Amino acid sequence: MQQLAIFGGTFDPVHWGHLLLAQTALYQVPLEKIIWVPSLNPPHKKAVSFEHRVEMLKLAVRENPAFTISLIEVNRSGNSYAINTLIDLSSFYPNTHWHWIVGLDTFQTLPRWHRGHELAQMCDWLIAPRLLGGENVTQSELICKQVEQQLRKQSHNIRWQFLNIPLVGVSSSLIRQLCHNDSVKTTSDRLSIRYLVPEPVRSYITAHSLYSDKSE
Ligand code: ATP
Repeated sequence: MQQLAIFGGTFDPVHWGHLLLAQTALYQVPLEKIIWVPSLNPPHKKAVSFEHRVEMLKLAVRENPAFTISLIEVNRSGNSYAINTLIDLSSFYPNTHWHWIVGLDTFQTLPRWHRGHELAQMCDWLIAPRLLGGENVTQSELICKQVEQQLRKQSHNIRWQFLNIPLVGVSSSLIRQLCHNDSVKTTSDRLSIRYLVPEPVRSYITAHSLYSDKSE
């Protein structure tokens, strides 16, 4: 049985934090492939167009043959729910043991996802610790155990493990903020997004003036 992981996200834009956790998952489990699933219309977020996000994702993952992008969300009518993504991908990849890559902040919300309790036991969860409010590793573990307990109350079991990544504070919001600052501040105040995103992604952002006041 093959071992595959789904990595869902807005990727607005994709950054080194995403790539680091996908690469860590690949070797830690180990996995044969990671399927990146950009969300079409994130319900609580205002993002740049799906096309821009997918183009940046393509540039970021193109050198890793174990990374693939699924546009499965495009073909779905109605709301896009994680459980549907897993069900749809299962028909493309039969005979698969599924894993789901997620950051701690997102994992915390799993009991509230649409059919989250069901989804919780359909795959193994690979959780990336993340600096939320200054948590250390013990506190992160406590958060995961709380999620586990919430699910257990309804007789749902969950299998999870932490990804052994160094804590990195990079986020898409930070990149967007820096791009915005870049467009309004003077040169001396600017902080570049260089080294926070892959270089081709940085060039793409610049070429299309994304996340600045001049955005398309
Ligand atoms: P935003 O800052 O806009 O909320 P984001 O950086 O969290 O975006 P997403 O595309 O929403 O990026 O994230 C996809 C997944 O990757 C989520 O599960 C998120 O928790 C996780 N993730 C993103 N960045 C990191 C990071 N630096 N460390 C650990 N997990 C991360």
